[in-house]
Amino acid sequence: MSVSIKSEHEIELMRHAGHLLEQVHDELASHIKPGISTKELDRIGEDMIRSMGCIPNFKNYQGFPASFCISLNDEVVHGIPSRHKIIQEGDLVKIDAGLIYKGYHSDSAKTHGVGVISEEDRKLIEVAKESFYEGIKFAKLGYRLSDISHAIQAHVEKHGFSVVRDLVGHGVGVDLHEDPQIPNYGPAGKGPRLQEGMVLAIEPMINAGRYQVKTLADGWTIVTVDGKKSAHYEHTIAITNDEPIILSSL
Ligand code: MG
Ligand code: MG
Repeated sequence: MSVSIKSEHEIELMRHAGHLLEQVHDELASHIKPGISTKELDRIGEDMIRSMGCIPNFKNYQGFPASFCISLNDEVVHGIPSRHKIIQEGDLVKIDAGLIYKGYHSDSAKTHGVGVISEEDRKLIEVAKESFYEGIKFAKLGYRLSDISHAIQAHVEKHGFSVVRDLVGHGVGVDLHEDPQIPNYGPAGKGPRLQEGMVLAIEPMINAGRYQVKTLADGWTIVTVDGKKSAHYEHTIAITNDEPIILSSL
């Protein structure tokens, strides 16, 4: 495994990529309402990315047929946008988005509740987000990679939810998926020591029920095996000599 170290200039480019991506998320969030199809959200987002002069990096990635992964309810990640998937009141909508700006990738994901959602669903969304912030408390010099993983798992399980094992965070840069892989579970104190200039996509995927997932017959969509709901939260961050910088945030 070789973890690439980015220069200050590269991190500036990735910060710009992340700012553009956050604007795309904001725009999509404003369109998430009952009645819209996930295909329409994908179109709106792709048009926006292209109008920024950027490239939607998920499109055709290993054959993925859309620009965004849009996953509903028990779908964990990699949902394929479809005109037959119509968003409804009470849904959990996970938007995983990415773009390339001047050769550099940004990657981030958010979960939205549509209209009135249950208290448990609200908590699930909140704990996914909180677990990201618990994880990046350890995204600093002096810690090892799995200190992040362990902090995420501890927070999620403390709230009675489970952490998906089969999918992980990753390094990001000139490629969408670079080393290292970053599980959202496991013992602390393992893996590479964190170094200034590492850029990582930290992305807890958490389930209301059991952690096990399976892939649907479309070859992409990952769902919970028990049909219970799932939430996802992701940002691209940079390790510095001080606090981490969340690159994919305004
Ligand atoms: Mg992502
Ligand atoms: Mg990612």
